Amino acid sequence: MDCLFCKIIAGEIPSTKVYEDDKILAFRDINPQAPAHILVIPKEHIGGVDELNAENSGVVGYIFAKIAEIARQEGLKDGYRVVSNVGEHGCQSVRHLHFHILGGKQLNGNMV
Ligand code: AMP
Repeated sequence: MDCLFCKIIAGEIPSTKVYEDDKILAFRDINPQAPAHILVIPKEHIGGVDELNAENSGVVGYIFAKIAEIARQEGLKDGYRVVSNVGEHGCQSVRHLHFHILGGKQLNGNMV
């Protein structure tokens, strides 16, 4: 499958890893939009939030529990934003489910 994030999981493309286990990988975004910008992805290929269903969505709760841990490790004690872009209108550029953790500064209050 020609998926950038599957290649990162496979080690075919380098990444700056923040956390990894058998289910998920967290790594630093190559084009950071905030002082802390981390992507958290499932190792199973799921295209995006729009491909979640009753069978494959268990990993999302697991990811969010790890997001809280990672944010603590990163020292984001004043808060942060978790974002998942979906499809064309959502400006999703990589079709592998991922959650952005953005923090380390006061973020803009506008969502769009
Ligand atoms: P999205 O636009 O929501 O699909 O997010 C995709 C994100 O992946 C963007 O923030 C990119 O900067 C990031 N990205 C693309 N290629 C890489 C890479 N090789 N390593 C780390 N982050 C990447």
